[in-house]
Amino acid sequence: MKSIKSLIHRYIFSNELSLDARILNMVCAFGLAAAVAATAARIIEKAPPIAMLAMAAMFVFIIGLLIVSNRFKLYKIGIWISLISLGDVLFPVIYFTNGGINSGMAAYFVLSMVIIFLLSRGKSCVVILIPHIIIILACYFIGYRYPDLIRPVSTFQLYVDTIQSLLVTGFFIGFVIKFQSRIYNDEKQKVEITGRELARQDQLLHVINEAATLLLASDANTFKAALDTSMEMMARCVDVDRIHVWRNQIEGEQMSYSIVYGWAASPELKQEKMSFLYNQSFPDWAAKLFAGQCIGGPLTSLSKTEQERLGPYGVRSILVVPLFLQHSFWGFVSFDDCRNDRDFPEAEVGILRSGGMLIANAILRFEMTENLIQAREEALSSTKAKGDFLANMSHEMRTPMNAIIGMTNIAKSSADPEKKDYCLSKIEDASNHLLGVINDVLDMSKIEANKFELSFTEFNFEKILQRVVNVNNFRVDEKEQNFTVKLDKNIPRTLIGDDQRLAQVITNLLSNAIKFTPQHGSIQLSTFFEKEENGVCTIRIEVRDSGIGISEEQQRKLFTSFEQADSNTSRRFGGTGLGLAISKRIVEMMDGHIWIVSELDKGSTFAFTIQAKRGSEKNGLLRPGINWKNVRLLAVDDDSDIRSYFLDVAQQLGLRCDTAAGGIEALAMVEQKGSYDIYFVDWKMPGMDGVEFSRRVKERSSGTSGVSQPESVVIMISAAEWSTVMDEARRAGVDKFLSKPLFPSAIADCINECLGAENVLAENQQPGQIDRFEGSHLLLAEDIDINREIVLALLEPTAIVIDTAENGREAVERFSQNPDKYDMIFMDIQMPEMDGYEATRRIRALDNKRAKEIPIIAMTANVFREDIERCLEAGMNGHVGKPLAMDEVLTKLRTYLR
Ligand code: ADP
Repeated sequence: MKSIKSLIHRYIFSNELSLDARILNMVCAFGLAAAVAATAARIIEKAPPIAMLAMAAMFVFIIGLLIVSNRFKLYKIGIWISLISLGDVLFPVIYFTNGGINSGMAAYFVLSMVIIFLLSRGKSCVVILIPHIIIILACYFIGYRYPDLIRPVSTFQLYVDTIQSLLVTGFFIGFVIKFQSRIYNDEKQKVEITGRELARQDQLLHVINEAATLLLASDANTFKAALDTSMEMMARCVDVDRIHVWRNQIEGEQMSYSIVYGWAASPELKQEKMSFLYNQSFPDWAAKLFAGQCIGGPLTSLSKTEQERLGPYGVRSILVVPLFLQHSFWGFVSFDDCRNDRDFPEAEVGILRSGGMLIANAILRFEMTENLIQAREEALSSTKAKGDFLANMSHEMRTPMNAIIGMTNIAKSSADPEKKDYCLSKIEDASNHLLGVINDVLDMSKIEANKFELSFTEFNFEKILQRVVNVNNFRVDEKEQNFTVKLDKNIPRTLIGDDQRLAQVITNLLSNAIKFTPQHGSIQLSTFFEKEENGVCTIRIEVRDSGIGISEEQQRKLFTSFEQADSNTSRRFGGTGLGLAISKRIVEMMDGHIWIVSELDKGSTFAFTIQAKRGSEKNGLLRPGINWKNVRLLAVDDDSDIRSYFLDVAQQLGLRCDTAAGGIEALAMVEQKGSYDIYFVDWKMPGMDGVEFSRRVKERSSGTSGVSQPESVVIMISAAEWSTVMDEARRAGVDKFLSKPLFPSAIADCINECLGAENVLAENQQPGQIDRFEGSHLLLAEDIDINREIVLALLEPTAIVIDTAENGREAVERFSQNPDKYDMIFMDIQMPEMDGYEATRRIRALDNKRAKEIPIIAMTANVFREDIERCLEAGMNGHVGKPLAMDEVLTKLRTYLR
């Protein structure tokens, strides 16, 4: 029964088949029923085989028709076949073979007319109907005129056929009426549903329209409220409890999505700041959404993974709509229904997709506006910072200028040489400070013009630290700060890099630490060897202080040019605010980075890394030629850190070393173990101080005890200014002085000097010693009187003979008149009539051997790399920058005159 019902539904009522095909099915079904009844009557009556054969043919025909119409969709041919075969062939045949005129036959003809009306439309209905009526009339006419042509049937058969045909016709007509009314009702219902859906879509469109107006009218201040309202309107319209806009991001190699904005019907449903990886949460979503597909429906219809992931958030049904902006997959919007299991209709999904796009676009527009506003604010604040910088710079330059001019006036008006000396020393300080400020500004302008470059050489890392420390030590002493240096012994002794720039960064950090740390505070400079890869070492350098510290907000601005942590700082401490910005640039050019950890009033740690190639120098710190294993050291210091530092350094150097915590303990050790070769003695120690100890040791070794001892060397170590103790210490027998903080190479140099076979000269050991160049002749081309005067005065002690020229033309003339007279030329660049480049070119172009080889050195305030390159291109041999550094000038003279 059930299968009959489903058969009827599938072939007659279901919309899957066309109406014509379904009617044809109906005709066939009733035809089959009629054929079954007719066959049964013939079997009972034992009709002749021909009648049975006709019935069998009818079966085959009807079944064939059914197959054709349903399987192959050839029902249109089926319709024509059935119309012609039924009305025009079958029924007339039945008329003549089954007793002619009778009510059963009349019913068949009615049936055939109904079928024609059902299966044919328009003109074809008339075309089929007319021959059919003619055939009916002809049948009746022939039956009337030639009754013999009609095969008589038995009364029984007549009855059976009549009843059967009446029933089939009646049922068929009734069924058709029912069928039509059902179709009518179905269609009506569909129209109503469509109407309701259209109204809903209309409403949704209206909401999206309103949201668009709202979002477009919003500005940066009202955007969030407008977005909230728009999302709420959409949520209410589609009856969901939550809407989220998710944006895609790339995390490493993976794509993730995170909430950008969201709306929820109640606070407990709200979700914020969530982010997931597609791979880990919904592995197939990325591909589906990327293909523009929506995902959704009741949770129960989704995959197990989706149910497990979404269930905990209270989702009952979900719709996920992908968003594409500028042709790329931007993210998606999710609509969550937390109350009902439901599907989202196609048409609504389309509108929601537009709604999602609208929101995503609005968010993008808002972010762009925000960025623009921020950029504008940054530009404004940078302009302000530059303004402040100029004011600050003017102050920074005027202050030393004020000192220079003021002190010059005082010196001029004073006859007292001591006072003049005092003024000169102040003028020197102020000038050096001014030069520092100018150098900073120059560096910064090079950075801004992208012309900042490094020059690489092999350098001794420890020597750089030592130099920086020496330069800053006097200020540490002044403020009586506790300054320590920690050197990681794994750092290679020599590195390849720009030592000047590295020293500049460390100096900047260290001088800031000293500046911003009060009296008696502590400062630590530490270096760490981080790693080495393919010969490139990563080194970290840290400067830690216990000073005023920097607030978090100020830290953010620190490394930007022209920014000081706080503009009050410049008033309190001075400075341009450029140092850290320059340092950052230098560190970045050395493939490192710089950062700060600081807390207000607790101190700061500035740290940076650099990458530098390992240098090639492999020699030990100690000179060869002495059996160092026999050398014994004694380090005497009350500070246990210093004692262990000495042990460490001695181990590095391969020396034997003992330590003692004070003078008395040290003397006892000397008594017990005999004299040491070198004593490193701290000055200030409790009990017996360093001076007293030195005296005793010296007395002992000079043989006052009667036994002549080999000469020991006493080296005094101290952080304090030497001048106070120097004389007393020398009288007590101290041979050398060594400043704290201690560096292994400084200790080694000291030992070398005391015991080494050769006379060891440290790098900086001959400052100020003036060489003499009697008999040498120098041509100086310089247009500014005072500059000429300075060179003449500076070089006076060297006894070199100097001729001067006031411009390039004069210089060329002087040289060409007597080329062999000169040994060297110092050439200014910017001069009237003929500049230094042109003068050099002309000299080099002279037809004279000397003109080709005479050393020409540029002496100019143009100190950029390209200026130096231009000098060399013009044919000069070298370059010295102004203001002149005596050492540099002397080095050039030594190089070219010796
Ligand atoms: P400046 O020449 O003004 O010192 P810097 O760029 O070196 O320029 O430093 C910028 C600002 O950073 C300083 O003015 C100061 O406010 C802050 N700063 C730098 N180092 C320290 C430190 N160690 N402790 C506290 N503040 C510091």
